[in-house]
Amino acid sequence: MNRKITHKVNVGNVFVGGGEAVVVQSMTNTDTEDAVATANQILELWRAGSEIVRITVNTPEAAKQVAKIKDILMVKNCDVPVVGDFHYNGHRLLTDFPDCAAALDKYRINPGNVGFGKKRDTQFETMVEKAIEFNKPVRIGVNWGSLDQELVVKLMDENTARPTHQQQEADEIMREAIIQSSLISAKQAEEIGLSADKIVISTKTSRVQDLIKIYIELSKRSNYALHLGLTEAGMGSKGIVATTAALSYLLQNGIGDTIRASLTPRPNESRTTEVQVCREILQTMGLRSFTPQVIACPGCGRTTSTTFQELAEKIQNYLSNSMPIWKEKYKGVEKLNVAVMGCIVNGPGESKHADIGISLPGNGEAPSAPVFIDGQKTHTLRGEKIAEEFQEIVESYIVKRFG
Ligand code: SF4
Repeated sequence: MNRKITHKVNVGNVFVGGGEAVVVQSMTNTDTEDAVATANQILELWRAGSEIVRITVNTPEAAKQVAKIKDILMVKNCDVPVVGDFHYNGHRLLTDFPDCAAALDKYRINPGNVGFGKKRDTQFETMVEKAIEFNKPVRIGVNWGSLDQELVVKLMDENTARPTHQQQEADEIMREAIIQSSLISAKQAEEIGLSADKIVISTKTSRVQDLIKIYIELSKRSNYALHLGLTEAGMGSKGIVATTAALSYLLQNGIGDTIRASLTPRPNESRTTEVQVCREILQTMGLRSFTPQVIACPGCGRTTSTTFQELAEKIQNYLSNSMPIWKEKYKGVEKLNVAVMGCIVNGPGESKHADIGISLPGNGEAPSAPVFIDGQKTHTLRGEKIAEEFQEIVESYIVKRFG
């Protein structure tokens, strides 16, 4: 896969763009005025694998808490870069609270929500000047739902003035407005003095096809590092599928330097699902390795008992629970492939292709489970303790190969 090489942006201790690994990021949904709750959620997201975390900075009280939030993170040895999300009053908050401006690792500026008329330019300028003063990068984050209406009206008027056969559809103009809004703002930031390697761009919409078209065009027209995300993707499988469809297509085409899944958590659902989804997209696409992969067959009429599902789940949980320790002890362990298969039809074949595989007995098969290591059958497990014995085999393989 050929990745588009963009400008490399340094966000805290993380690089975004320039051909570096695609970075996973997330956003808190706590009230930033509550420093402890926000710091705790950042920690939770970071422990789940988020490499950058964004918080909203919407009020003077929230801005006052930012340095305190960073202090709490430091005490917990958490150095995850924290991004401040500013709308409407960002120019004032960054000016009035220099501690906040200094503590943040990046500022997110939404050109559609900076201000209106003449104020828009001066307020945008102030935010960029603060980024220069504190040596911080910015994300120019354009959003379909808060698009610069003056720009939309201008493009609509230009379209109307064209001969009828040259006029574009309203959707095309909206897409063009999103692209232009981001590029014009990025250019302005450069003219104010911010270098291109301090600028990340995002142009989020909630419709997959629009998002793909916009990012393809944006990638052709500029070399800025790109943050991908489908905005307001939704809840549950709908949000996950839509995000995966959009981001995977773009990533496969070499577009995107950092990703976020904007999922709406179900009541009481952990915010970390969005991190897990991003990591799984990147690992499935072969772009990053975070945790050993478990290949499990879907099961069918040949494996009606729940034994197979229970074993697949036990192995998956065992691998992810062991990873924090293994990562420290066994370098490269995240590249391990484990197969858990339901019967003899594809079990032995698929198991042989994995580093370690087990083929469970399907309906009517002898109650034994052959285990394959590096393509060779090495064990046959029987009885009640198949899961535990298989885990021991996995662990000793890891020690031998990665220890
Ligand atoms: S491996 Fe066996 S149990 Fe699993 S889906 Fe294929 S036929 Fe069904």
